[in-house]
Amino acid sequence: MKASPAEITDILRCHGVNPSSQRIAILGYLMQTREHPTADCIYRDLLADKPTLSRTTVYSTLNLLVDCGVVSAVDVDGESRRYDYPLTPHAHFHCTGCQKVFDVDMPVGVESVMLPQGFTAKSTSVYYHGFCRDCMEN
Ligand SMILES: [Zn+2]
Ligand SMILES: [Zn+2]
Repeated sequence: MKASPAEITDILRCHGVNPSSQRIAILGYLMQTREHPTADCIYRDLLADKPTLSRTTVYSTLNLLVDCGVVSAVDVDGESRRYDYPLTPHAHFHCTGCQKVFDVDMPVGVESVMLPQGFTAKSTSVYYHGFCRDCMEN
């Protein structure tokens, strides 16, 4: 999904985040990828366009966006935190062969099914581990 800077600005404002050009660039990057990049990966890719960007800014912006509920942190492999702009609720499948993280559909409502009465969930994380098709074939 390719969002315009104006759309990204609106999303940030809706979540009470001041839309600086660096925040717009970082959220824009996450909105157009399904690769679940790490902070380092985002930093390296954005540096070409924004040579003044610092690693610290990328980390603090990602923390802010997660805190505000704009993006999700994906801690699926127990090592590096990855980031995701989830269009719809989905689970994650981590391939222990190639280390890729795939989106997998989650039945609607599964995130609240086990909750005790009176509990309200703000977010949910469902992780699967195994081998993807390519790794199974090789
Ligand atoms: Zn794989
Ligand atoms: Zn995802």
